[in-house]
Amino acid sequence: MSPSGAEVLRQIKSRIAEVDPSEVHELRRQGAVVIDVRQDDERAAGHIPGAHHVPKSHLETRIESVVPDKSVPVILYCASGVRSAWAARTLIEDLGYERVHSMVGGFTLWKDRGHEVEVPRVMSAEQRERYSRHLLLNEVGAEGQQKLLDAKVLLLGAGGLGSPAALYLAAAGVGTLGIVDDDVVDLSNLQRQVIHNSERVGVAKVDSAEQTINALNPDVKVIKHRLRLGPENIMGVLDGYDVVVDGLDNFPTRYLLNDASVRLRIPVVSAAILGFDGQLSVFKPYEGPCYRCLFPVPPPAELAPSCGANGVLGVLPGTMGLLQATEVIKLILDVGNPAIGRLLMYDALGATMDEVKIRRDPDCPICSRDPDEISDEEMGVFPDYEAFCAGVH
Ligand SMILES: [Zn+2]
Repeated sequence: MSPSGAEVLRQIKSRIAEVDPSEVHELRRQGAVVIDVRQDDERAAGHIPGAHHVPKSHLETRIESVVPDKSVPVILYCASGVRSAWAARTLIEDLGYERVHSMVGGFTLWKDRGHEVEVPRVMSAEQRERYSRHLLLNEVGAEGQQKLLDAKVLLLGAGGLGSPAALYLAAAGVGTLGIVDDDVVDLSNLQRQVIHNSERVGVAKVDSAEQTINALNPDVKVIKHRLRLGPENIMGVLDGYDVVVDGLDNFPTRYLLNDASVRLRIPVVSAAILGFDGQLSVFKPYEGPCYRCLFPVPPPAELAPSCGANGVLGVLPGTMGLLQATEVIKLILDVGNPAIGRLLMYDALGATMDEVKIRRDPDCPICSRDPDEISDEEMGVFPDYEAFCAGVH
């Protein structure tokens, strides 16, 4: 005679650890990961803040990407504590997880006890369609898309790097794009600055970029900063943004940007191009090296792209700008392995991508110190600031 459903459940529960909602905070503090195993529609009505979503039907295929280390404690919850008990058994017996808990009473009890609940905002039908290919990705999904919609990204320059980055960040639904540029569209820009077009020659780049972005995605708010960055305005411009895309073409401003972004703790996705070669790195303050750790002194003026017009293969800033956009999205979503502490070097002629590790300099004049210790006067200063480019301009 086969045992009844209630008897089977009792047997399962005897083999897993059950936790009361009141124990969840403490277990989390010790490193436990909370997993919501309910269906999409149940989760949409509210969930435990910070809980990952892996519906029970997708447990076998998805759990390892959320919790790769099987010794990490896991707390599963559903609506009442029954499905999570079954799911816990699967994790232990079929998938080899070592410390699996099921939350007693499920989300219903959690809510009844007055614990904190997060209710996700709902996307419109149009947004669900627009971002449908993101929603299908486990690493993005509805919550990731909401993070993108809430994100504020500042693009320094609507030029070769900023154009492709802005286009794809707008298409991806990054909700706020700030653009810093004081220039107007020139015919010679159009070989690579694809956010502009022939009809907009002579138009301010910030206005031209705004028009293109608005036409592409009405979800995106464009903030125009038609100015040149200097020590007097950089802190005010950067403040409030989550990530900065550095498409700057001159070293003095790069140092200034570095110093300001370290003070404000804003990550910078930086790229540089020359001829057929591109470089990219992510400078995340206090988690990796800063720009000054990498380049304590600027390169000789004749090698600096800002000092005169240099040739560049038109598609190269496209490639590098899209790598920047990719890193920005990874930072916003907190997925993957951003290029922090690594300098990627792309050789378009050779079709190769090399990388060198870069380390924080313990004696770095900027990031070895507390951000509060860095003064306005020190920002952007480096030894031969005045002499820089003097021989070329
Ligand atoms: Zn540094």
